[in-house]
Amino acid sequence: MNDIWFYENHTPGYEVRWKITDILHDEKSDFQQITIMETLELGRIMVLDGALQVSEKDEFIYHEMIVHVPLSIHPRPQDVLIIGGGDGGTLREVLKYETVKAIDMLEIDRRVTELSKEYFPALASGFADPRARVTFDDGVKYMAESSRLYDVIIVDSSDPVGPAVQLFSREFYQNCFARLKEDGILVVQSESPFFYPETFVSTYKSIAGIFPGAYPYLTAMPGYISGPWSFTLGSKKYDPLALAGDREAVKGLKYYNGKVHQAAFVLPQYISDMLGQ
Ligand code: SAM
Repeated sequence: MNDIWFYENHTPGYEVRWKITDILHDEKSDFQQITIMETLELGRIMVLDGALQVSEKDEFIYHEMIVHVPLSIHPRPQDVLIIGGGDGGTLREVLKYETVKAIDMLEIDRRVTELSKEYFPALASGFADPRARVTFDDGVKYMAESSRLYDVIIVDSSDPVGPAVQLFSREFYQNCFARLKEDGILVVQSESPFFYPETFVSTYKSIAGIFPGAYPYLTAMPGYISGPWSFTLGSKKYDPLALAGDREAVKGLKYYNGKVHQAAFVLPQYISDMLGQ
């Protein structure tokens, strides 16, 4: 293991490489190639079909931003649905809300969760909580067939390839809208606006065409493609910038706070221009 590198191919003209100090696991599940490695820079990482999904070192940024933004906006989140998120990081953050009574999680690939429990115990700590109900099935199918209603739906998907393609479709977002209560909130990871503007813009347009309010917000993820990383929030009622101030904020976070929340919705002009704003 003197000089082994993991190359992640982002676009035809751009790739990054991470120095590997150990390869811990590699298998082909029914859905994807799952590889777990130790890196010099990011600690332990999980890679699905050649794409970095989580790293020990920066996962807190992504998971805090996909969870605490919507859950801070909703005044009393009780029923939460997570689509994807098999590593458990999103579930761990949702469980920090005492108001939350039940969390359904639909992950298509059982092996992602099993391997996370084995290799990423800090991410997978929430699976044992009695409020978590984890089902291994296609989230697209679940959204089309379920009749359960939620306060918040979080789509923590992989990139729009393979089983995740439909998680970026207008029909899927329409089903999410139907499964939200009258003041419900949807949040989805919507990729890099700089490198994948088509995905970012089409996600925004789909959500804006369905929800009364559509709000992209940004963070920066060192382990993902460089530049800003986006999430898009669809809200039936609440304005994301008017926070529910009557509820005690979650303590002990490493990235999210009230100022980050407000700043995340400020878009650089080139991104506003993409959205025609
Ligand atoms: N934070 C990561 C990122 O943006 O790179 C994604 C985290 S999580 C590992 C993504 C999960 O979505 C994967 O475990 C994958 O198996 C799951 N997934 C993909 N398509 C799905 C579908 N149709 N239904 C449910 N889960 C799906």
